[in-house]
Amino acid sequence: MTKNDISEIKQLLSNTQNIVIVPHKNPDGDAIGSTLALYHYLKNKNHNVVVIAPNDYPHFLKWIPGEDTIIKFDAEQEKAESLINEANIIFTLDFNALHRTGDMETPIENAKAIKIIIDHHQQPDDYAKYVYSDVNMCSTCEMVYHFLDMLGDVNLINKTIGEALYTGIMTDTGSFRFPSTTSTTHRVIADLIDKGVNNAQVHNNVYDTNSYNRLQLLGCALSNLKVLPEYNAAYITLSQNELNKFNFKKGDTEGVVNYGLSVEGVKFAAIFIENHKENIVKISLRSKGNFDVNTFSRNHFNGGGHINAAGGRSHLSLKETVDNFISILPQYKQDLNS
Ligand code: 5GP
Ligand code: MN
Repeated sequence: MTKNDISEIKQLLSNTQNIVIVPHKNPDGDAIGSTLALYHYLKNKNHNVVVIAPNDYPHFLKWIPGEDTIIKFDAEQEKAESLINEANIIFTLDFNALHRTGDMETPIENAKAIKIIIDHHQQPDDYAKYVYSDVNMCSTCEMVYHFLDMLGDVNLINKTIGEALYTGIMTDTGSFRFPSTTSTTHRVIADLIDKGVNNAQVHNNVYDTNSYNRLQLLGCALSNLKVLPEYNAAYITLSQNELNKFNFKKGDTEGVVNYGLSVEGVKFAAIFIENHKENIVKISLRSKGNFDVNTFSRNHFNGGGHINAAGGRSHLSLKETVDNFISILPQYKQDLNS
């Protein structure tokens, strides 16, 4: 984002605008945190603002101030489409390609609004007038902080905006432990605490609100964990039956893939989650070091993301998907052993 872009955006925002803010489908902490932070900022600037999410998000995000105003496209499509059509500005946050919004892709594509991307994923598509893309950023929430700073409004970040930003920075960095966490990230976090964010409370709201079933499902996932020492790889499976048994709710499997990566020596971890409703196997991939799961997912599993965290999907059965995964690994043996 150039200085010129920033001054044009500042100019745009000097008049009241109809603004729609969109996160990706199956929004996570960073997607909901960043969209709500921007929502509160723009609302405080007297714009007409609404966050429209493609679909619902986990229970552990349903405390963030303003989340009750989020419109879910799949539940209120007509209303959402008319808001998208009437918008002057559409911000798309925490994703790099419009298809990541599912059924919102076409309405957003056709909208007359000026589009602005704020995102940290690899290889952003070319659909927006203004693009603030930085793949070295730990989270879109950190980028929203820097965006407000560039607009000269960092002083307008209050406790409410801060809580939303803190949530996404915390969840996307695995609570500040991934290599994407920089000294600047910590300075941003320190400033958010200075602005009134109760860090322990935010952590508690997100991570210490487990249901008994969720922990039992985690137990099941861990007992399904397989390690492939010759590839320094590990994978977990969860079948639809297992999900049903533990009364699976959206978000219950978030973070489970990281347990594979925590096995000593493992550099590459996957989780395969059967989804009968969508007739797919949802795949999450994580790595340590140089092994690029974004490329791996793009090449083999119709997905993408970042070097060390990516998602994808398969239309084969759960067993066939795992067999396919294992059959691909020999191509990467050298990379995984270097
Ligand atoms: P997760 O495994 O948690 O679903 O996703 C890991 C990371 O990859 C997240 O940053 C997520 O936004 C991104 N991601 C997940 N699925 C896809 C996909 O299909 N395409 C792209 N480009 N990114 C994805
Ligand atoms: Mn993110």
